[in-house]
Amino acid sequence: MGLIVQKFGGSSVANAERVMNVARIVTDTYKQGNDVVVVVSAQGDTTDDLIEKANEINPKAAKREMDQLLTAGEQISISLLAMAIEKLGFPVISLLGWQAGFNTNSIYTAARIKNIKPNRLQAEIAKRNIVVVAGFQGINRYDDLTTLGRGGSDTSAVAIAATLKADKCQIFTDVEGVYTADPRKVEGAKKLKEITYDEMLELATLGAQVLNNRSVEMAKKYGVELEVLSSLNPVPGTIVKEVTKMEKMLIRGVTKDKDVALVSILGLQDTPGIAFKIFSKLSAKNINVDIILQSFGRDGTKDIVFTVSKENGPIAVEILEGFLDNCKIVCNTEVAKVSIVGAGMETHPGTASKMFEALYESNINIQMISTSEIKISVIIDAENADRAVSAVHKAFIPND
Ligand code: ADP
Ligand code: ASP
Ligand code: MG
Repeated sequence: MGLIVQKFGGSSVANAERVMNVARIVTDTYKQGNDVVVVVSAQGDTTDDLIEKANEINPKAAKREMDQLLTAGEQISISLLAMAIEKLGFPVISLLGWQAGFNTNSIYTAARIKNIKPNRLQAEIAKRNIVVVAGFQGINRYDDLTTLGRGGSDTSAVAIAATLKADKCQIFTDVEGVYTADPRKVEGAKKLKEITYDEMLELATLGAQVLNNRSVEMAKKYGVELEVLSSLNPVPGTIVKEVTKMEKMLIRGVTKDKDVALVSILGLQDTPGIAFKIFSKLSAKNINVDIILQSFGRDGTKDIVFTVSKENGPIAVEILEGFLDNCKIVCNTEVAKVSIVGAGMETHPGTASKMFEALYESNINIQMISTSEIKISVIIDAENADRAVSAVHKAFIPND
């Protein structure tokens, strides 16, 4: 008996049958004597569909209005799930983000949770209600609705678990846990029993969408142990926690991120302070730069190449063209980042060359490389991304 937070993603509540399935999971947990807070995402592709509707009318719509629109998706699923739970004969109440006390900053479409005022949640739990909360949303100091960025419902669930000091935080999804690669795309991907916060954070940041990276960051910060499991198949999932008992595998997973644009500044005048000028102008516009490569200077000029998100590629070019002349600026959005992640690589010097060998054997050219203690990333042509992930996965994770 205890307080359990359960989160269900879009595919888990995609239609009436799936909503009833979730209602059964939730009420089974409640029947065992637990208090249950449920966080849900918008049904199926609702969020994508809403974005498409907005784009048909105004692709440059104000982000505040995007959030007014997008929060509607989760409003639909909480009320439907509450109706399903009611049908099964259990006490339930649905709450929007603001009703559940989610206060955020004012960065529309990418807001950060500042705090959760727990009074309403606690009052409803005290009444023995099952509480169904809309994920992905909150309210700012101007009483405007905000959203937390794509995949943000995971973060909503972890934030509630941390605030209420829940005994368990379960993230139900459409696969059985966290795998060594996307199990829908990579043959032989293996389910992990456990993974550390740090490794999961890298996997999530580098493209494993099964958990949102901010949710992992928050789980680590507040020591919330997560269980990632399937809403369709009741088998043990993956536990995400500080330290695992698993033997140190060389790598824990392979990821792909296609949300990358490669910006090249070619033939740049090689003057001191130029890199500072470029990257400070980009950061002033909130453009996050990932990998940076600078060539050796020759004939008084040099090249600087860096990656940003796809959305920011053309914006970065516009900013650079505003103050750089006598150089060529190009943006390539047909690239992808393929990465390997694992704490084990710290003590295995051959890891990088093994990855590069796998790519070489598949005749895939590497455009950029970046490494840290527990990850190695390469930038390659987008069209080779799936082949690259499979080749690298095969090299590191033996089939048994
Ligand atoms: P939800 O709607 O439940 O939030 P998501 O679509 O956001 O689900 O995340 C689940 C999906 O993440 C899976 O269907 C799977 O295709 C994908 N995925 C990518 N990488 C991994 C991985 N390493 N392990 C598990 N799933 C992964
Ligand atoms: N519905 C939102 C999205 O599609 C939030 C989420 O699913 O976590 O990104
Ligand atoms: Mg998700």
